Amino acid sequence: PPRNSNAVRDIANVLHPYTDHRAHAVNGPLVISRGEGVRVFDDQGKEYIEAMAGLWCASLGFDNKRLVDAAYRQMQKLPFYHGFTAKSHEPMIDLAEMLIERAPVPMSKVFFANSGSEANDTAVKMIWYANNAMGRPDKKKIIGRLKGYHGITIASGSITGLPANHKMFDLPVSDRFIHVSTPHHYHGANPGESEEDFATRLAEELDQVIQREGPETVAAFFAEPAMGAGGVIVPPATYFEKVQAVLKKHDVLFVADEVICGFGRTGSYWGSQTFGITPDILVCAKALSASFLPISAVMVNDRVFQALADGSATIGTWGHGFTYSGHPVPAAVAVETLKIYDEMDIVGHAKRVGGHMQKTLRARFADHPLVGEIRGIGLVAAMELVADKATHRNFDPGAKVGPRLAKLAEGEGVIMRAMVNDSMGFSPPLIITEAEVDEMIARVGRALDALTVQLRR
Ligand code: PLP
Repeated sequence: PPRNSNAVRDIANVLHPYTDHRAHAVNGPLVISRGEGVRVFDDQGKEYIEAMAGLWCASLGFDNKRLVDAAYRQMQKLPFYHGFTAKSHEPMIDLAEMLIERAPVPMSKVFFANSGSEANDTAVKMIWYANNAMGRPDKKKIIGRLKGYHGITIASGSITGLPANHKMFDLPVSDRFIHVSTPHHYHGANPGESEEDFATRLAEELDQVIQREGPETVAAFFAEPAMGAGGVIVPPATYFEKVQAVLKKHDVLFVADEVICGFGRTGSYWGSQTFGITPDILVCAKALSASFLPISAVMVNDRVFQALADGSATIGTWGHGFTYSGHPVPAAVAVETLKIYDEMDIVGHAKRVGGHMQKTLRARFADHPLVGEIRGIGLVAAMELVADKATHRNFDPGAKVGPRLAKLAEGEGVIMRAMVNDSMGFSPPLIITEAEVDEMIARVGRALDALTVQLRR
C-alpha cells in the first residue's frame, strides 16, 4: 500500500483493543469508512453486512438521521453539563424517567456512566457501599460465572469469567470475586442429563459455593441473561428460577447485566423478561443509545437506593460518579433511540426476524460436518465449529479455525466474530430484515464451504 495509506498510518500509530499486534503489523487493519443500514463500507468501497452490529451494539444500524439530529440539537442547546452535587439537566431527567417506565421490574433510580465496564464497576461500588450502610461490612463477595463477560476494568474484569484474560492481568483483583460454572448444556451436561437436571446441579453448586464462603460474606451474583462474548450461551430451562431461589435464601443481590440483551435483542425488551429474572440492579449500555454515542445506565431497586440514601448520614455521601455521567448529548440520543424503539415495535420486530434467523441458521448449517451446535434466541446466535460432531470436541485453538472462517466471511462480505471455542457470533443490527438475514446467511454459507475445502487439504 502507498506510504500514506490508512493501513500504513494505522500500523504506525494505533494501539488496538484486543488485537495481536505482531500479526497486525503484517496484515494491517480493515478500515471502515461509512455505514448504511445494516451495512458498512471499507475505505476501498467494499460492502459488508455487519453480522455483529459492530460489537453487539449498533442496534439501529449505521445511519439514522433522527439520532444525528438529536445530537446536533442538544449540542447547540447545552453541549455539556453534569449531575454532581445535585446538578441536573433535561436529557438526563428524560432518559431516567423513560428507563424507569420501561424497567422489567419496579426500579427506583437510574445512575449513568459511559460504558458497560463502568456501569458494572458502579454496581459493585453501590453494593459494597450499601452493605456498609446496612451495617454488614463483611457481605462483599461478588459471584460471576465462567465465560461471563462484564467488561475489562479492574472490578468488571474480575467478574468476567475468562481465565485466559484473568491470567494475563493477575485478576481477579481480590478473593472477593468468585466464579461458578457456565450454564452451557452442550459442553457442561453429563451424558443423558436433561436441561432441567443440569440447571438443578448448577443451582446446587451455587448454593454450595455460597455456603462454603459463608452467606454473610456474599453480596451479589452478576449474570448476563444470555451470555454474549462467552459464546452466546442460552441458559438451560429452569436455570434462573433455581438460581434465584438460592440467592433469595442467602440474601444475595441479583445484578442483571443487560449490556447485550437489553432493548429487544432476545425477543423481549429485556433479557430478564425472556428468562424470568427479577434483578435488584440492572446494567445496560450499547443499544441504549444505538451506540451512536457512549452511555450506560445502572438501575437500582428501592432497597438498594434506600441504603445509598441512608448511608449519607451514617458513612458519608456515596462518593462515586464520572465527569460524563449522564452527559446531555448521549442522553439526548438515547432518549431518541428509545422513542424509535417504541415506534418501530423493536420487540415485535426482533421476535419475528429473530425467529427467522434462528430457523434459517439451523436449517442451513445444523447438519454441516464442521458445525457442532447452533444456539441463540431472538436476534443473537452462535454457530460453534467442532473437530468432532459426536463428542463435541473443539479444534485446537492454535488452528484458529474460527478466525479463519471470520476472515473468509469478510471476503464474502460479512463481518462476524469468532469467540471462545470457535463459536461464530451473529448479533446483527435489530433493524435487519428477513431478506437481509437470508443474504447474510448465504454469504456465511459460502465462507463455510471455502473453509471446509481448506481444512480438507
Ligand atoms: N457487559 C456485557 C454483557 C458486555 O457484552 C460488555 C461488552 O461487550 C460489557 C459489559 C462491557 O462493556 P464496555 O465494553 O462498554 O465496557
